[in-house]
Amino acid sequence: MSDAAETLFERIVAGEIPSDVVFEDEVTFAFRDLNPQAAVHVLVVPKKRYRNVGELAAADPGLLAAVVATAKTVAELEGILESGYRVVFNTDADAGQTVFHVHAHVLGGEQLGFFGSHAP
Ligand code: 5GP
Repeated sequence: MSDAAETLFERIVAGEIPSDVVFEDEVTFAFRDLNPQAAVHVLVVPKKRYRNVGELAAADPGLLAAVVATAKTVAELEGILESGYRVVFNTDADAGQTVFHVHAHVLGGEQLGFFGSHAP
């Protein structure tokens, strides 16, 4: 994984790379995924970078709670709180994590398919 990929979301949070921002507060930042996998696909990151959700949980459980709370706020803002949504933290290689700045995928806006299956 290149350094550029490791710092990509920090650069998006800093506004150095443009993004479609959905929500921001003091500690979290939410923006639309460039390659959406559902009708609604928003990424939520803590502004402070941790490699993955396990590291975030160990280092700062309050910040993890803030990320999950922002995921709910995103669902409210996107109008999918009642219809339902999925929150996914891909973690390391087998899960397909490509950006090593922990991020929650917030997915919804349509009936979602199965997940957790073998790669095609
Ligand atoms: P991961 O595979 O690490 O769980 O998810 C990384 C996500 O970041 C992917 O869904 C990918 O589409 C998204 N992504 C990668 N680069 C960019 C970018 O420059 N801007 C935005 N908005 N999303 C990106």
